[in-house]
Order: sequence, then C-alpha cells, then structure tokens
Amino acid sequence: MGLKLETMNTAGQLKSDLPKSQTAESDQGCGRGAPQLALVIPCYNEQDVLPITLPVLNTKLSDLEKRGFITENSYILLVDDGSQDSTWPIVESSHSQYPTRVHGLKFSHNRGHQNALYAGLMEALSRGCDAAISMDADLQDDPDAIDAMVKEYAKGNDIVYGVRDNRDTDTVFKRSTADLFYKMMSWLGTDTIPNHADYRLMSRTTLKALSHYTEVNLFLRGIVPSLGFPHSKVYYKRGSRAAGESKYPLKKMMSFAVEGITSFSITPLRAITGIGLISVAVGIVILIYVLVSFFCGRAVAGWGSVMCSIWILGGLILSGIGVVGEYVGRIYLEVKHRPRYIVEERI
Ligand code: UDP
Ligand code: MG
Repeated sequence: MGLKLETMNTAGQLKSDLPKSQTAESDQGCGRGAPQLALVIPCYNEQDVLPITLPVLNTKLSDLEKRGFITENSYILLVDDGSQDSTWPIVESSHSQYPTRVHGLKFSHNRGHQNALYAGLMEALSRGCDAAISMDADLQDDPDAIDAMVKEYAKGNDIVYGVRDNRDTDTVFKRSTADLFYKMMSWLGTDTIPNHADYRLMSRTTLKALSHYTEVNLFLRGIVPSLGFPHSKVYYKRGSRAAGESKYPLKKMMSFAVEGITSFSITPLRAITGIGLISVAVGIVILIYVLVSFFCGRAVAGWGSVMCSIWILGGLILSGIGVVGEYVGRIYLEVKHRPRYIVEERI
C-alpha cells in the first residue's frame, strides 16, 4: 500500500515530492497542532463489510493517536443511508462498545451517497472536529493514506485529495466510463480532480464554507475544488471491496454523471443552440440549391432527402427538449427546496 505525496500551492503548481520513507513524526510541527479527526463513512446495506472495516479504522485511529498525530477524542461517524439490512444495529452495537469512538447518523430513507456524505460532514462540523476525512465503507480507500493526509493538513493544507494511483481493480467498463466522464467534465469547464472519488480530508474552515451550499442536487467532487483554500494530493492504491457488493449499479452511476454535468455546467444547453443554428444554416444552403435547380429547370423528386431531414431534425429537436428538460427538472427540485435528507436517529 505505497503512498506518494505531491504538494501543490493554491495555484495548483507542484511544490515538492516527499520520499516514501519520510516518517510522519519528522513532518509534524511545521504547521498546525494535532487535529481532532472525524472519519465520515456513508453506509448503504454494508452489514457484510462493517465488521471488517470498523476494527481496521479503530486500530488506525488509535495508532495515529499514540503517535501524536491526532487528538484522543477523534472518532468514526457512520452515516446509515436508509439501509434495509443490519447496518444500523451494527452501528448501535459498536457505539455501545466504544461510546466515544463510534458515532452514527441514521437516515429515514435512502438518499444516496452524496447526501449521506454531506450529512456526515455537517454532523462532524456541529459535533466538533478540526478536520474530517470522508471515505467509503468497503476499505477500497486505503486507510494507510490517512497518515499522509493528516501530515498534509499539519503543513497547512485545508483540503487533501486522495487520488488513486491506478484503476486495476475496476472493470474495463467502469474504467473507460470514468475516463470519459472526467474528460467530459473538463471539456465542459468543471474543475474536478481526475481519479479522485470522495476520499478527502477537509479542515473545519472548509467544512464551514461547504455548509453554505444549500443546493439539493449535490455533486461534491465539483463543489469542493471550487471552494479554493490551500490544498494538496495524496496518491494511494485503490484495493478491491473487502466484502459485499457495489452499491453503485449502472443506474445510480448514470444519474450521478448527469448530476455532475447539469449541476455545474450549462454548456449542453449552449451546444444545442449551436447545433440548431448549424442546422438552420444547412437548411438555407439546401433551399438556395433547390431554388437554383428550379430556375434552371432541373426539378428533383426529393422524397429521400425530405425524409432524412424530417428524421434528423426531429431527432435533434427531441434531444434538445430532453436536455432542456433535465435542467428544468433540476430547477424544479431546487425551487421546492425540500430537505436533502431526514435524520431518524443520531448516536
Ligand atoms: N453508498 C451510500 N448510499 C448509496 C450508495 C452507496 O451511502 O445509495 C455508500 C456505500 O455504502 C459506500 C460508498 O457509498 O460506502 C461507495 O459505494 P460503493 O463502494 O458501493 O461504490 P463503488 O466503489 O462500487 O463505486
Ligand atoms: Mg466501493
């Protein structure tokens, strides 16, 4: 589980590379003191993996505590995103076993990964923490990268992005669709960190800034980089799921991608206007050609071309309406301003 560090200044320029062997202790003391750390973990039907994940993370926090990296009152916050299995009973029993170490938040209904993450971060902010690290429940986000993240925080970075070194553990389909998504996001002008999911450290200051974002359609991978603040990256090797199955089926992945695009960019709407104007220009050229042919006495029976035009233009109009509809739908959801999630219980 090798780690590589890359430090960037606020302008995103590379400052230095730390050797792998550099010890944590040698990096401490050049900035802030040890933080009270909250590990925020969204969980949806994770009964298989939590009994493996919790001891690993508990040991990790105790180790960091002993080495003086974090304070003793650091904790794990599990957000149960409306699971139907025994996820919440597991959270409850861990809390009664470790009342100060493990806390939980239970949604009344499944509201999705991004909402669970946001709720957890806001809960950590109100409960008290100097920094929070969000990570998945399945140990795919290498817990050893936490050391490096805390080191980067100590140096004065307010956001530390966990960036995966490779995508070996992903299927070819997931890898290629993810690549396409990041390329599209950058083409659309949205600032995202390629190969960074939601494994990141955020300082209290940045959590406060995040709390001002009240939109219902949440896309944290776009919002967090737009906050600014000094930031750096930590590279890690993403492993396979420790147990259970992925909770991100194709349908959820697609709606996540649409969320990302529509909540950050209006380029698709502009593209439709552009395509519309091009097709009008093509129509005018055809009209001129038809008129010229008519006056030259070369009348063409153009059934085929008429049919083609109808179908192509019909398709363009329908897809245009579809894209506009996506945005209108999202405006509708934002205007209603319903709560993003409902908390049933907190421990
Ligand atoms: N998750 C969630 N709500 C959902 C779907 C997923 O809280 O509706 C959580 C899940 O429990 C996990 C994280 O989001 O901690 C990432 O999900 P998963 O590991 O299944 O995604 P993958 O790694 O396969 O993309
Ligand atoms: Mg996973």
